[in-house]
Amino acid sequence: VAVVPLGMVEGWRAAGALIWPVSCPGCGRTDVAVCDRCRAAVAGPAFFTPMVGWPPGWGVWAACGYRGVPARLLNAWKERGRTDLGAPLATGLASALLAAAAAAIADPGRPLLVVPVPTSRAARRRRGGDLMAELARQAVARAGSTPGFAPDAGIGVGRPPRVVRALRHARPVLDQAGLSAAGRRANLRGALSVRPGARRLVAGRDCVVVDDVVTTGATAAEAARALTSEGARVVGACFLSVTLRRPGVPDHRGKD
Ligand SMILES: [Zn+2]
Repeated sequence: VAVVPLGMVEGWRAAGALIWPVSCPGCGRTDVAVCDRCRAAVAGPAFFTPMVGWPPGWGVWAACGYRGVPARLLNAWKERGRTDLGAPLATGLASALLAAAAAAIADPGRPLLVVPVPTSRAARRRRGGDLMAELARQAVARAGSTPGFAPDAGIGVGRPPRVVRALRHARPVLDQAGLSAAGRRANLRGALSVRPGARRLVAGRDCVVVDDVVTTGATAAEAARALTSEGARVVGACFLSVTLRRPGVPDHRGKD
């Protein structure tokens, strides 16, 4: 076994840092996976935003606007293999989940079901897994460890919310980009369905739909329709971020 001088090991480490530089995807700062400032940009607090065409009384909550720093962190997490960003992103989703659960009039005796919008098979393959379901699990774990969560939310005392991948794609849909709000709704009508194995699980239960980004709300509305058609009661929806620019949606421009 060759003895390697310590200086050479350090040299290799430095070379490794050049080959795989660590940097914050939000601002480009090097030598940190995500900086405190960008972490704070996705952490919440959650805010409420109304959605056109949604059933009245639904709570729609999110932690940040989808632009600048939050958009860059989300894209790095989703499309560039930065799964380590799941933890800071889950903090924001947890704050939205807590707010949605607190606003919902849910069945106090039973745990809330948290249902992620399903990811297409192609996207799962490309990303190496169902990132959204994993993010929802991390958010639930974080929300569940928040002191006073269950009593404040008035739900599932002693029983943490549970993530259930209850939905699947029932048919292919067009790319939503470029479609109007009405076009998106038409494109998505009947596009999702409850997995046969999850029908009995969701029937009669309180559900919150979760997703990483909401634009018009058409996807989440279709998710809610599919769940409701199987007897579930959709009590709200929460998102990490919203694309809308409107009063109440924080504007994290970062270094744009
Ligand atoms: Zn940063």
